Amino acid sequence: MQVPNHPTITTNGALRPTQVYVDLEKISGNYHTIQKHVGDSIVMPILKANAYGHGLIEVAKHIVKQGANILGVAFLEEALLLRESGVENPILVLGGVLGNQVPTFIQHDLTLTASSVEKLQQIDEVAARMRKKAKVHLKIDTGMERIGVHYYSATPLLQASLGCKHTIVEGIFSHFANADAADLTSSRLQVERFHEVLKFYQDRSLPTPIRHMANSGAILQLPESYLDMVRPGIILYGVYPSHDVRKTIPISPALSWHTRVVYFKVVKPGHPVSYGSTWQTDHLTRVVTIPVGYGDGYFRSMSGKAEVLIRGNRYPTIGRICMDQVMVNIEWETAYNNDEVILIGNQGDEKITCEDLARWADTIPYEILTNINTRVPRIYQTHQ
Ligand SMILES: *Cc1c(COP(=O)(O)O)cnc(C)c1O
Repeated sequence: MQVPNHPTITTNGALRPTQVYVDLEKISGNYHTIQKHVGDSIVMPILKANAYGHGLIEVAKHIVKQGANILGVAFLEEALLLRESGVENPILVLGGVLGNQVPTFIQHDLTLTASSVEKLQQIDEVAARMRKKAKVHLKIDTGMERIGVHYYSATPLLQASLGCKHTIVEGIFSHFANADAADLTSSRLQVERFHEVLKFYQDRSLPTPIRHMANSGAILQLPESYLDMVRPGIILYGVYPSHDVRKTIPISPALSWHTRVVYFKVVKPGHPVSYGSTWQTDHLTRVVTIPVGYGDGYFRSMSGKAEVLIRGNRYPTIGRICMDQVMVNIEWETAYNNDEVILIGNQGDEKITCEDLARWADTIPYEILTNINTRVPRIYQTHQ
């Protein structure tokens, strides 16, 4: 098996025992569930940050087979990786664009985000010079204060877009700041502001470009924001965007993270474990070592909190999490070298979720998923 970022000179076919399993059928299941929920709106899967750690190319190819057409990424380079791997679908790059990137976008038929009059004009000029058409979506800031023109001064951008001879304005979009919160007041205000901007087209009896603003939080809680297209990221992978969000769509996680016991020892009182000697036992105990650490994205900030599953039991990690290894206290129970260890996923009746890791690391599930780095091989499962 050829795994990206891993040597082809291997070890008699034995991959590193620390592996991420990605169940592609779960991703397609979530995709179809989301599509059913949003009715006639187009679903644009968001594949940025290596498809939230699940593997950009594999997820893209699978989701396109399921009927997804337009795909969303954050950066030009992510879109180029998709093109290089043969994905010919429309790809919207959601992030800000720099002038020297524009020709590459146009050359590879990638859709740009036009977030100011100057940037739009720059895009149109480059397209003219290349004797090609640029495709853009206009970005309206309705309350995020990130990229995009403010809703209260959007008219010049929309006006300018009508005059562009070499640019096709395919879409117009905005982004929520709080769509996964319990209180939806500010999100409703953002929807209103976006509609105010869109009046521009109605007032002039012009066709409106594809309107979109819903991320995962809004797909779960704000049906009035579905408009023509929705942009699910984290729920596509089966993880809810926040603790507070209403879980109106059943989804299931596609990713599990496994490793194996590589060492067993008995530790005595008075002999502290790991860097900084922050943990020690007060009785004879059994300790196993597992080959995963913060160098893989198993955050050091989870030290003293993270738990793992071995033989269907839940055990605490002990001492500081190292770059490549961490120790687990199994008390006087049993574990052998090569036993499977679950970092995220199910074993027996026990389960550890990416939300659990987020809580232990004092962060959000997004950061857990996107930080499992390429040192960890991804193994793809389909049920066909
Ligand atoms: C990342 C992103 C999304 C997807 O967000 P989720 O919360 O993961 O659904 C949608 N739109 C834009 C502009 C984004 O940057």
